Amino acid sequence: MTVARGHTAGPGGLAAASVRQLAPYVIGKPIGELARELGTDDIVKLASNENPLGPSPLAIAAMQKALTELWLYPDGNGHELKQALALHHGVDAAQVTLGNGSNDLLVLLAEAFLTADASAVYSQHAFAIYGLVVQATGAKGRIAPAYPAGHAMQLGHDLDAMLAAIDDSTRLVFIANPNNPTGTWNTPGQVREFLRRAPSSVIVVLDEAYFEYSRRVDCPDGMQLLRDHPNLVVLRTFSKAHALAGVRVGYGISHPQVADMLNRVRQPFNVNIPALVGAEAALADSTQVQRAVQLVEDGLRQVQAALPALGVKLFPTAGNFVLADVGDGQRIYERMLRLGVIVRPVTGYGLPRCVRITIGTSEQNERMIKSLRAAMQSDGNS
Ligand SMILES: *Cc1c(COP(=O)(O)O)cnc(C)c1O
Repeated sequence: MTVARGHTAGPGGLAAASVRQLAPYVIGKPIGELARELGTDDIVKLASNENPLGPSPLAIAAMQKALTELWLYPDGNGHELKQALALHHGVDAAQVTLGNGSNDLLVLLAEAFLTADASAVYSQHAFAIYGLVVQATGAKGRIAPAYPAGHAMQLGHDLDAMLAAIDDSTRLVFIANPNNPTGTWNTPGQVREFLRRAPSSVIVVLDEAYFEYSRRVDCPDGMQLLRDHPNLVVLRTFSKAHALAGVRVGYGISHPQVADMLNRVRQPFNVNIPALVGAEAALADSTQVQRAVQLVEDGLRQVQAALPALGVKLFPTAGNFVLADVGDGQRIYERMLRLGVIVRPVTGYGLPRCVRITIGTSEQNERMIKSLRAAMQSDGNS
């Protein structure tokens, strides 16, 4: 068999060049996998920014009730959930696009707005999915340098640098606010200024996956900026503070024309029945969200009090996680694994000194602190 130039032998070589060049997203190590390796179930996972309180009891009840309907297709228009979201955010239902997680919205945005001759702008150290969805379309990712060491928001998005990276080919800009894995954020003034100066020829995607947690710092509410900026798309998810990561549901709020375009590339039944009803019930339970926010505030205080004493440097965070400079992220990650604690190495983000640690319950945080202390000490002895 002859192989076309630049292709590798075998059927994988037949894939589009843009896809062959992709490096797959690295997920947090699953609990089951480490349980099999260590031969114990006594494992704490603080690697995927999940909310250990779990979802609203109302959401669980709604999802359980929906299990008897699973022989039916879901409502492909997601009518009820869209109505609830429209009411909740004070927008029109025609502005809402539902997704299989907000990750799905990122894919839809890339499919709808990018072609192989287009580009998208995002920051150094930004959420890794941006680069993946852009490159899968064959478009070019233009990476703006993050704030340098010494800046108060070191590693964070430099919106001036992102503006400078926009050129005539640019159709999408991704801003994670706050960003994962850095925890950094941009202020309302910075985001407003960016939107004012960004050309109307680009769609600005403001990814607010950690919105509920970010209220404790000076982080903007993207919904308030939609009216003045028809090229803005605000993304939210039920995976983080609402603790519904497993059912996969997120959404975008945008100009109705943008929602219309996303709807054209969307799979007709991209959000399943438990996700639709679970999200609607979770949205109505603000008390459960407040509990999650409180858990993270308390947990952050616990972690921020303990880690510096171990020689660990913490970056400021607006999310339910901290970026921790431990010297050698991969090594500390592996040592903590052996102690049954899963955190996230972030070498792939250009942060080899760091691990990202999700804030858990006080017991989980305590266990994490203990294992990190042991990992740092054995590091000193090696
Ligand atoms: C977790 C996360 C998301 C989306 O997660 P979904 O589960 O797909 O909704 C989006 N953006 C950022 C920055 C995240 O950290």
